[in-house]
Amino acid sequence: MKVPNSIINLITEKVISRFLKYVRIETTSDETSNESPSTDSQVKFGKLLIDEMEELGIKEIIHDEHGYIYAKISPTKGYEDKPEIGFVAHLDTSPSVSGINIEPTIHRNYSGLDISFEKNPSLILSPKENPELLNYINSDIITSKGDTLLGADDKAGIAEIITACEILLNYPEIEHGPIIIALFPDEEIGKGTQYVDISKIPKICYTIDGSEMGLLQIECFDAWKIKIIFNGLNVHPGYAKDIMVNSIQIACEFFNEIPKLERPEKTKEREGFYHLNFLKGNEEKSEAILIIRDFEESINQKRISYLEELRKKFEEKYKGVKITFNIEHQYSNMKRYIEKTPYIINFAKKAIKMADLDPIIRIIRGGTDGAYLSQKGIPTPNIFAGGYLYHSKKEFIPTIALKKATEVILNLILLYGKDNYQLS
Ligand SMILES: [Zn+2]
Repeated sequence: MKVPNSIINLITEKVISRFLKYVRIETTSDETSNESPSTDSQVKFGKLLIDEMEELGIKEIIHDEHGYIYAKISPTKGYEDKPEIGFVAHLDTSPSVSGINIEPTIHRNYSGLDISFEKNPSLILSPKENPELLNYINSDIITSKGDTLLGADDKAGIAEIITACEILLNYPEIEHGPIIIALFPDEEIGKGTQYVDISKIPKICYTIDGSEMGLLQIECFDAWKIKIIFNGLNVHPGYAKDIMVNSIQIACEFFNEIPKLERPEKTKEREGFYHLNFLKGNEEKSEAILIIRDFEESINQKRISYLEELRKKFEEKYKGVKITFNIEHQYSNMKRYIEKTPYIINFAKKAIKMADLDPIIRIIRGGTDGAYLSQKGIPTPNIFAGGYLYHSKKEFIPTIALKKATEVILNLILLYGKDNYQLS
């Protein structure tokens, strides 16, 4: 059981042209906005996608007031009882690098040498720094012109999902169960699942938002955010002896007590960290944001206990200071939820192998929309979209990766359309 080669050969051109069209459309999210979605451009892009899906013949589409899109592809006749599966991607691109007027450029038959950028002569994409480029010699590679990011994160994911669905709709001989396309705004600013309607999401999902070709991710950080407020007491500095309680000075000392080797810049692979990412204040009052990350929730709990101890110690040492914590659990390591349904992982591996790739299993030192969905009872591993160096002006995607990711999506659809799918 495989998608016939004659059909697979059609994928490349369709997915590339779709991708080139999507990346030209600006959809940068905005972390300073209180609106949802954070930018109108994401709604506009959503409308364009809906027009396109309607043209393909998809009838049941919802575009809600927060810019979320849920589209349903009906099953082949006789396949109504097959499990519904969802493919999730995000509409926005990262606000960390400009995403305005992106001009995708195709570097044909990559030779293995450095790639330069027309609009940014000092920027070089080199296999010396990024040896993975050498896996794509003779393949076509798409970059921006060097003045913006490319937006393969996650326009590649969207192009791949919609192209796979186009194939299903045009070739009824590929038999399949019900499919849901779910596209979320504002993933890059950590709000991708804020307004998701869980009732519209199937019980089996995959995000198509990973990086290199072959990648499958089932594990992410357990994540906490702690807002810390230091209340002090201000008086005229000339008459402050034994009276002033300088909150910002105390805050600086407080953060110096946090283990210096447990910072993002000192950790890798499975090591967790404390990360101070905001501090502002004066003598009277200071506010800080500290985020905590680890693959083990128990280790994060120990970090939180350590902070509680530190708070007591500081309140005793500096009479008059009051330190308060506002502790928020942001997301869990999705592994413990995904592991309960091993077939979801096995099918992903199988689908990747069916596309003649070796599955690369790797942890995510961050989170995904899938982390939240998994926590809500929808196990959602992350599959490659195929791009590299996301959130940078050097971001690139080999065209072969666009094709292979589309193939993997089609393979998954085939696998779930089989009898006794859970036993496979
Ligand atoms: Zn992404």
